[in-house]
Amino acid sequence: RRQNLLAFKDKPVYTTDHHKVTLLANVGNLNEIKHLSDVGADGIGLFRTEFMVMNAKKIPDEQAQYLLYCNALQSLEGNIFTIRTLDIGADKELPSLSLDSEENPALGLRGIRYCLAHPELLRTQLRAVLRASYHGPIRLMFPMVNHVEEIDQIFAMVARCEKELHEEEMLFGEVSYGIVVETPAAVMNLDSMLDRLDFVSIGTNDLTQYAMAADRTNPSLNKDYPSFSPAILKLVKMTIDTAKSNNVRVALCGELASDPQIAPILVGMGLDELSVSLGSMLEIKSAICQCEYKQLKAKAKEILTHNRIESLQASLSENT
Ligand code: PEP
Ligand code: MG
Repeated sequence: RRQNLLAFKDKPVYTTDHHKVTLLANVGNLNEIKHLSDVGADGIGLFRTEFMVMNAKKIPDEQAQYLLYCNALQSLEGNIFTIRTLDIGADKELPSLSLDSEENPALGLRGIRYCLAHPELLRTQLRAVLRASYHGPIRLMFPMVNHVEEIDQIFAMVARCEKELHEEEMLFGEVSYGIVVETPAAVMNLDSMLDRLDFVSIGTNDLTQYAMAADRTNPSLNKDYPSFSPAILKLVKMTIDTAKSNNVRVALCGELASDPQIAPILVGMGLDELSVSLGSMLEIKSAICQCEYKQLKAKAKEILTHNRIESLQASLSENT
């Protein structure tokens, strides 16, 4: 079976009626980048930069981060490189930061909130990304953004970093900017943010947790609150429609995209890109390549009519 899947390795992803889908990888360290070509990924859709601080005694400084991103760009040879800014908070073990413990870390100072509360951390990462982007295309996305005021703060910091680099006569390039849509508030407020964004990526892992008020780390809840339940699919569809009506590219980087039954249907909903774990890449490729886009669009419509998880699941199991 693996052998059959390997036949898809070097194939670009098209449906049988020639609709192109960009298939990217979720990556959590530099080593994984070397394996993108093993599965023929179009690039990286989510580079989780937390690894830089998770195991480190101290946070890499600007120069170290710059070299790390340049190193990744070199391996990627011009393919898509989507960096996510540090998504840290009290839920993670971070010896270098000594975070205050919180009663509800998932609802606390995490993601962009943490970075905006510690602007030096954001500034260092932004400067490193801007400098690295002189050497190749970089997309940068911000996790846990809820509303337009955060976008104002982020872009004020971007402007400050560009001004500083200019004054220091440092070379820097043009970065594409996006957010991870992973809270219901972000879905509802998306319209107001899109004029300043080049792309969005839907993070269904957190979107499910926050929409369902169901802790994603609590195994006794996972079965009853799956990411393919009707409310989540509706939130995904809303996000896609809002982004598309503003001509903004839309990706999905949560685990939902790594599910071969649902990934083609997400394409039918209008996603431009899916970002999946390296281990699921070939299976997702093969699933999409066997489908007709016209049928996927019809199936996506049908899927959104189900109110019960059970009937939704039954419909997903039918051959598309
Ligand atoms: C998500 O929330 O769906 C996501 C992709 O990010 P993470 O799993 O790292 O929170
Ligand atoms: Mg997330």
